[in-house]
Amino acid sequence: MTMAQAATPVADFPSLEKALKHHFGYDEFRPGQRRVIEAALKNQDTLVIMPTGGGKSLCYQLPALLKIGVMVVVSPLIALMQDQVAGLQDNGIAATFLNSSLDGEALRQREAALLRGDIKLLYVSPERLQNLGFIQFLNNLSQTVGISGFAIDEAHCVSEWGHDFRPEYRRLHELRERFPQISLLALTATATERVRQDIAQQLRLRDPLVQVSSFNRPNLFYEVRPKGRDGYQQLLQQVRSQTGSGIIYCLSRKRVDELALKLTQDGESVLPYHAGLADEVRRDNQTRFIRDDVRLMVATVAFGMGINKPDVRFVIHYDIPRNIEGYYQESGRAGRDGEPAHCTLFLAYGDVATAEYLIGQKPDETEQRIARQQLRQMVDYAESTVCRRQIQLSYFGETLAGLCHQCDNCTNPPPIEDWTIEAQKFLSCVARCQERFGMMHIIDVLRGSKNQKVVNLGHDKLSTHGIGKDRSVEEWKLLGRSLLHQRFVDETTDGFPVLKLNAASWQILRKQLTVEVAVPKDIKPVETRSTTESVKFDNAPETVALLTELKALRKRLADQQSVPPYVVFHESTLKQMAQKRPKTLAEFGQLSGVGSRKLNQYGDAFLDVIHQFCADNGLPTQPISTSAAPPITLPSNTNQPQTFSSRPQPVGNTHRLTLQLFQQGHSIEAIAQERGLKPVTIATHLELLILNGESINLDALVPPARQSTIRQVLDTKETFALSDLRERLGDSYSFDEIRLVRADWQREQSSVSES
Ligand code: ADP
Ligand code: ZN
Repeated sequence: MTMAQAATPVADFPSLEKALKHHFGYDEFRPGQRRVIEAALKNQDTLVIMPTGGGKSLCYQLPALLKIGVMVVVSPLIALMQDQVAGLQDNGIAATFLNSSLDGEALRQREAALLRGDIKLLYVSPERLQNLGFIQFLNNLSQTVGISGFAIDEAHCVSEWGHDFRPEYRRLHELRERFPQISLLALTATATERVRQDIAQQLRLRDPLVQVSSFNRPNLFYEVRPKGRDGYQQLLQQVRSQTGSGIIYCLSRKRVDELALKLTQDGESVLPYHAGLADEVRRDNQTRFIRDDVRLMVATVAFGMGINKPDVRFVIHYDIPRNIEGYYQESGRAGRDGEPAHCTLFLAYGDVATAEYLIGQKPDETEQRIARQQLRQMVDYAESTVCRRQIQLSYFGETLAGLCHQCDNCTNPPPIEDWTIEAQKFLSCVARCQERFGMMHIIDVLRGSKNQKVVNLGHDKLSTHGIGKDRSVEEWKLLGRSLLHQRFVDETTDGFPVLKLNAASWQILRKQLTVEVAVPKDIKPVETRSTTESVKFDNAPETVALLTELKALRKRLADQQSVPPYVVFHESTLKQMAQKRPKTLAEFGQLSGVGSRKLNQYGDAFLDVIHQFCADNGLPTQPISTSAAPPITLPSNTNQPQTFSSRPQPVGNTHRLTLQLFQQGHSIEAIAQERGLKPVTIATHLELLILNGESINLDALVPPARQSTIRQVLDTKETFALSDLRERLGDSYSFDEIRLVRADWQREQSSVSES
């Protein structure tokens, strides 16, 4: 028996939760994690099916730390191993990888460290496991240090039924044959039953624990927008209304290149990604995206698998995806950190036609049929007026109780209208034109066009000519599509779409069937709701400003170590810092996401920035509880709701003293000197007094002309953070001036919205 067989609950950790906090800084397990970890500790084979962002990695990482020996992790993308390993090392976890990028000396050193027992997790590519020399090494390892398990990441790659089949994965069952005593843990986000069964079979799993988690990702907001002729402008607007990193998916390489270029010309921070780019370029672009050197990735579906960036804040599908499963996986790359994120799909019927055309080019007829059906389901999803999440989850065999309230159809349901009369006009026009024409011609006739085609065909003489002048072309198109979608009329599919009546069409013409059409309103910007897991962020100006500083520190620390910023701390952890403003290392260690290693490594640096910020801004290091007054949302013309606390923190004696001195005519500097405080502290006192409605003569503090410039920027409501405001106003404006005018503006706004 090898040492790896002994399950070894480590005495230092009376509970798994303690180990979780110690190594990873998290307070509790996500659904399913504990069960899998317990099975892994008992050497049971396991098949883990969790959606992207569900927390699969932890399912083998924690057992790796608690068991004797090395956990061997098979991961498909060499380019990402380095970041995964860097992330673990940053948590103080001994991890390494072996791949073809290393030279002989580095390989030997790492192998030696493994054989000394210095490493707990080893990442390898599937190709490497086919190398006999490496198998020898594993044999040696299992007999000395021990192998605590094999974790197969992205396990759906073994299946031809999956969307990322990798022939190298096919041979992974050899692991089971060569190391029958070592348990296997297969992990995937693939939702289809067929692939799940295939994985268990292909890998020869033995009586595995199958852990299937819910595919509901409540932090993702789903919406579909019709893509008009100005689709690019819509996209640009969408991109600009979102904060943080985003991925934009397109159907072809050509469209990726075009779109990336356009966005760059419009000043966005963008890089392209598709299989046509040279390997180094692709790798480099990916790295720059992951490390936050560039904000947007415009990509084909070649991008994303295994990408471990947890803080992607939005995913946009600029073209219709090929199927629901693919769409779910791609959009699911948003918000892996559990924080709110946005998924937008743009729907244009021209794109559907292109996709159909591409399907028609496939040589195999069965393949074509399946692809067409999948595309149809995708279009149905996009056109549907019911809860998007209900459709997604039912596709994966899950039912959602009730509505999700996190999709466009839930938050902004389109009104259903009875368009039976219009449908009768439309269909009778199809009949009069002898079912030989496409939708645009029918609409021309309905709207009374006298274009050459209509006149030449004598269609201006038809009884239906001009009976539809009361509706716009767009409305007729909406109806036409809706009829097609509801199968109330058919369309030929040989590349020349001609409308054909079917049995349902005749029922409508005979008044036996009514026609309801969901008429989309102009979709209003919708707020993304926070989930329970995500930190409720108060958006108070100080919090936002401090967060900006903390992010800058995070980026500096990350760049020093050549790792992505999230490796240092996740966004949610930074938000907690900005909000709670911990004073001591002990308080800092309480934050979720701060484990013992990170506390030692980064605690001081972040505490310094927090202290300095508080000192500069005259803030106490603990913010006054905001729970008394819920934040109000300012009317905003952007998608980013900006909130302020409606009632500022109470005024204390120190503020009163400042007020008295100010009312006696002293300047900020004079008051500061008199009281032995910094001028900025006095300015924050005055800010608070203004917010509390005390009468302060603002003109004595900021000349009226400068006030009005500052107000103009505030009126755009695009940002309220001091640093951003100052960036827009220029260096000639001081933070104090901006702070004071902002307070006055804010007070006015809240009195407006309260009245
Ligand atoms: P998956 O591989 O399933 O897509 P990951 O393993 O990358 O997901 O985890 C997604 C994110 O969730 C990571 O940033 C990870 O650190 C975080 N995470 C995992 N488990 C927990 C937990 N128990 N509590 C909080 N965050 C977690
Ligand atoms: Zn919904």
